Amino acid sequence: MSGPAGTLVVVGTPIGNLGDLSPRATNALADATVVLCEDTRRTRKLFSAIGVKTPRLVRLDRNNEADISARVVATFAGEERVVLVSDAGMPAVSDPGAEVVRAAAAAGFAISVIPGPSAAVAAVAISGIPGNGFTFVGFLARKGTARLEALGRIASSPLTTVIYEAGNRVRATTVDLEAACGPGRVYVWARELTKVHEQVWRGTLGEAVLGFERADVDERGEWVLLVGPNVDEVKPDVADKHVEDLLKRAVATGSSRRSAVDEVSAATGVKRRQVYEIALNLDEGVERLTS
Ligand code: SAM
Repeated sequence: MSGPAGTLVVVGTPIGNLGDLSPRATNALADATVVLCEDTRRTRKLFSAIGVKTPRLVRLDRNNEADISARVVATFAGEERVVLVSDAGMPAVSDPGAEVVRAAAAAGFAISVIPGPSAAVAAVAISGIPGNGFTFVGFLARKGTARLEALGRIASSPLTTVIYEAGNRVRATTVDLEAACGPGRVYVWARELTKVHEQVWRGTLGEAVLGFERADVDERGEWVLLVGPNVDEVKPDVADKHVEDLLKRAVATGSSRRSAVDEVSAATGVKRRQVYEIALNLDEGVERLTS
């Protein structure tokens, strides 16, 4: 390589709430001479929202990433302060950007990162799933062998798996996950994080499928799905507490003890006998309190 190397700054942008744009990110955007972005209209809006004059924007998408990477290296080296953003969150996380970074690194660019929100990490943090580590897989293949293989890997993973999904596919994906992993896996979904309709639900795959079947979930928006360990592999007291809560809810909505036990066992995958014992302990507790 001849001449001085350029600079490339990888900048995280908000996933829904403009207040999450960091001061460092704002400064980097204000200093940029070229911004590589997905949707130029969207990035223009970001600049106008922060009151900064929009610099030269270059559209980067999956189809032109190789060409743009070559252009960045050949024509921007040494002269431009290039910033890489995506429509939301961290570039290169289920978004374009990895190829530009690789090309810039190979060409000797100074590359730095200004970390910002990412839906995956935000969802892990708010999930409450014990910290056994996680695998981020992004969007699952939509059909065929690739989808089946991905579901199989999730079923056999000892780690929590983090999945991105769109609202119009979330129900089908939850049903497929339950078929592959069984009803008893801890399941958390997080929807519209950092936005007005932010919602997080924690339970098991079996319960989640029931929730979608009862149509009591607003499926619109952007989703992160997390599949954790089996509910009875999580700390036993956590699993028992969860079963207790479900039993109480079932009885409160009119189920007999017997059918509450059946329902909760089916929804959580916890053995019927174990659920029954928890139900008995609950009854004793109630008697102690009332006698
Ligand atoms: N680069 C982004 C990141 O760092 O999170 C992800 C981009 S990917 C194209 C978009 C997907 O991320 C959405 O379909 C959804 O699954 C997830 N996502 C993005 N924003 C979200 C939000 N506010 N709440 C929940 N999921 C979100």
